Amino acid sequence: MESKENERLLLMIPGPTIVDPKVLRAMSKPVTPHREKEFSEMFLEQAERMKQIFKTKNDLFLLAGSGTAAMDAAISNTIKPGEKVLCIVSGKFSERFTEIVKCYGGEAVELNFEWGKEIDVNKVKKVLEENDDIKAVTVVHNETSTGVKNPVQEIGKIVKETNALLIVDTISSLGGDDINVDEWNIDLCATGSQKCLAVPPGIAAISVSEKAWNVIEKTNGHSYYLNLKKYRKHKHHAPYTQPISMVYGLKVALDMMFEEGLENRIARHRKLAKATREGVKGMGLKLFPEKEEICSNTVTSLCVPEGLDDKEIRGIMKDKYNIVIAGGQAHLKGKIMRIGHMGNVIERDVLCTLACLELALKKVGFTLDLGSGVKKAQEILKK
Ligand SMILES: *Cc1c(COP(=O)(O)O)cnc(C)c1O
Repeated sequence: MESKENERLLLMIPGPTIVDPKVLRAMSKPVTPHREKEFSEMFLEQAERMKQIFKTKNDLFLLAGSGTAAMDAAISNTIKPGEKVLCIVSGKFSERFTEIVKCYGGEAVELNFEWGKEIDVNKVKKVLEENDDIKAVTVVHNETSTGVKNPVQEIGKIVKETNALLIVDTISSLGGDDINVDEWNIDLCATGSQKCLAVPPGIAAISVSEKAWNVIEKTNGHSYYLNLKKYRKHKHHAPYTQPISMVYGLKVALDMMFEEGLENRIARHRKLAKATREGVKGMGLKLFPEKEEICSNTVTSLCVPEGLDDKEIRGIMKDKYNIVIAGGQAHLKGKIMRIGHMGNVIERDVLCTLACLELALKKVGFTLDLGSGVKKAQEILKK
């Protein structure tokens, strides 16, 4: 049973994010035949608009599935059994790439960095120099599990000089932070709909460079459904029935995005991220990433103060204030909390979340001056 309260839930998590009622209404339109000109053209138009957000002239395909479908397609179409993939791992989602590589029989060469710490690009360079048989490098742009943004542009400069492909997960940053697929030399860029794009989960997107096509052409892909050669061959870039209602929703979400302007949207995310960080520090909490320069612009992770139970804090946030924030994943469970500020989140939402977090912290016995975090956030937002 749906309660009225749940319909007013403020999602301050790193996906799924709040979907605008206009998008939801578009998705309730009658379903139309997907092979008719009107839908096909509209579908291709959305792929073209996505290219503008990816900042790419490469091919781009919309896939039915969550973001992981695009990660899966990037690996299954390029890696043969036994081939080596350098996986840069510093969180839960970068770990996923190692699992996908192994799933398709590839050899995942893991380059691990402590979660929450900066990636050392020189180490990436060194591994590539020592192993000229590495076929691809995987990296997560915005590691949602730790709230760290990774230096994809720097990694791109290194990978470009090799025969390896650069595969990047931008699932929790595309549409909320700057991504430049062509300038950063990203060969396969994967994203999903339910994070910064603010569409329900169900559409993924992937861009494919010429360098990647050369490999794909020579690889017998392991996936029937996500065979990119079939997507390219099909006139409408969709060999199977598209998630029609989702595409209606995506169209309206992109209308809204271009109305706001991509650069304005990114600036909004940056400002909200800064306000959240200042707010969190203002109430006496510590950010989880080792330095502020590597902090994500779409999700803020903070350390749970010693002796406090994050489940209790998040419980109060949800039950009393109708606000959902996330906990930590894997070994960070109980150690960090994560506040998502992506998609349609506005200043009011951040202020409200910080104010309620102060009350929740006070309730569990944390010592703070009420308003100390909110005040810091206001100082950022008043500018
Ligand atoms: C959410 C997320 C994923 C997983 O996406 P799904 O849509 O759940 O498949 C992968 N990578 C990152 C960085 C994410 O934030």
